[in-house]
Amino acid sequence: SDHALEYPESPETMDWSAYYPAFVDPSNRDDATQIKAMRKDVEVVDIGCGFGGLLVALAPILSDKLLLGLEIRTSVTEFVQERIWALREQNKGKYDNAACIRANTMKFLPNFFRKAQLSKIFICFPDPHFKARKHKARIVSTTLNSEYAYALRPGGIVYTITDVEALHEWMVEHLNAHLSFERVPEEEVESDECVVAMRNETEEGKKVTRNNGQKFVALFRRKEDPPWE
Ligand code: SAM
Repeated sequence: SDHALEYPESPETMDWSAYYPAFVDPSNRDDATQIKAMRKDVEVVDIGCGFGGLLVALAPILSDKLLLGLEIRTSVTEFVQERIWALREQNKGKYDNAACIRANTMKFLPNFFRKAQLSKIFICFPDPHFKARKHKARIVSTTLNSEYAYALRPGGIVYTITDVEALHEWMVEHLNAHLSFERVPEEEVESDECVVAMRNETEEGKKVTRNNGQKFVALFRRKEDPPWE
């Protein structure tokens, strides 16, 4: 349940220094809040990151950006944190830009990220919630898409992948219906190195490959807000 979940009151009160110690700005400390300022903001988010395969694959590819996995299961979050600490130890300077926190992304996303802070959101193999009465638990929905649109900057991308065709169709339908998003054309999808990582480096993606399953990918770009009349 959520009572044990810690989350900041607002993005300004979130202290990222323990998650990305290499990116703390030593010259800049807010004396009132004691929050250490960072040289960079989190820009790439993996929603329901599971065991962190994508984070670990993307960290060296997106080496100039801070990546964050959000995971609701405590033990899985701890596993990913330890995985990243170990990688940082073994590869000095290489995984400083990746971290994982425990969070329920269906509830607290705007507590973590300012408007237009993010450039990429990954939603990889989300739980399908097959039954119609469970569809409200899906991580792509009209309400949540508005939160993704809020956190993403214009030009930013939502990446989705699933092996469940009906869920793929659901995600496409809901993101298509949202005025802030437009689908990214196929050629561009196929030339994006993050798509390769999403297909092959997520734990679920590997499992689907072993079972010779299909993977359905769809990317959506955050459009510019229309000018005020
Ligand atoms: N993305 C990973 C992959 O592709 O290997 C894991 C996919 S797994 C099927 C779905 C993950 O989403 C689980 O680890 C689950 O705990 C997490 N999850 C489900 N609901 C969530 C929520 N509301 N907030 C954060 N994580 C959630």
